[in-house]
Amino acid sequence: MNIIIFGPPGAGKGTQSSFLVEKRKMYQLSTGDLLRAELKSKSKLSEKLKQIMDKGQLVSDDIINDLIEKKISEPSVKNNIIFDGFPRNIDQAKSLDSMLSKYDQVISLVLNLKVDNSILVKRISGRVSCSICKKPFNEYFDPPVDPSECINERCKNRDLTKRSDDNESTVSNRLSIYQETTLPLLKFYEIKGVVKNVDAMKSIKEVTDQINSELCDL
Ligand code: AMP
Repeated sequence: MNIIIFGPPGAGKGTQSSFLVEKRKMYQLSTGDLLRAELKSKSKLSEKLKQIMDKGQLVSDDIINDLIEKKISEPSVKNNIIFDGFPRNIDQAKSLDSMLSKYDQVISLVLNLKVDNSILVKRISGRVSCSICKKPFNEYFDPPVDPSECINERCKNRDLTKRSDDNESTVSNRLSIYQETTLPLLKFYEIKGVVKNVDAMKSIKEVTDQINSELCDL
């Protein structure tokens, strides 16, 4: 089964996807993660990508579709993919449909994580993670524990890392792009009858439970 985890930046798409990876052994295809991996390569393309991403704008569909097709075509992940951060506009959604049908696959479920805009800025701008184990924290809602209290011995020498696009000015741009370009494509999936709404204002555990019950109902 292929799933799209849909919602604004800060809705918890990455967090919930990581549980599906752990518990259901699904493959998380996060376009944001693929792009951040490309940034580390310091290629010519990476300089261009960094400028776009630091402004909170969308990377071109050609680059994104190329990254996606490389993964969809891999037999090891066939019909077991969570699309996280993709599609983000109607053209990407249509390209996804054609790529999936080329490899004999479909989208079975779109989980729409709903969160009020008022808390998204704090959820994103407070986001930090351990440089060693990558555990996420939030400076406002879930402050990082002191490294000396960390259960993981390896993390004692950690730094806290922050994504360069998780700052307040970029966040407001990312949220406007979501409202104007990404949110309207829910209609595209509603017509197909595959959308389930999830109240992502609730605790992480409650959201996970709701997602699991939606998956069991399929
Ligand atoms: P994310 O990790 O999903 O928040 O994505 C971080 C940034 O990567 C976004 O603000 C965009 O600049 C870029 N990006 C990620 N996914 C896409 C996509 N599907 N289409 C265009 N740009 C994307």
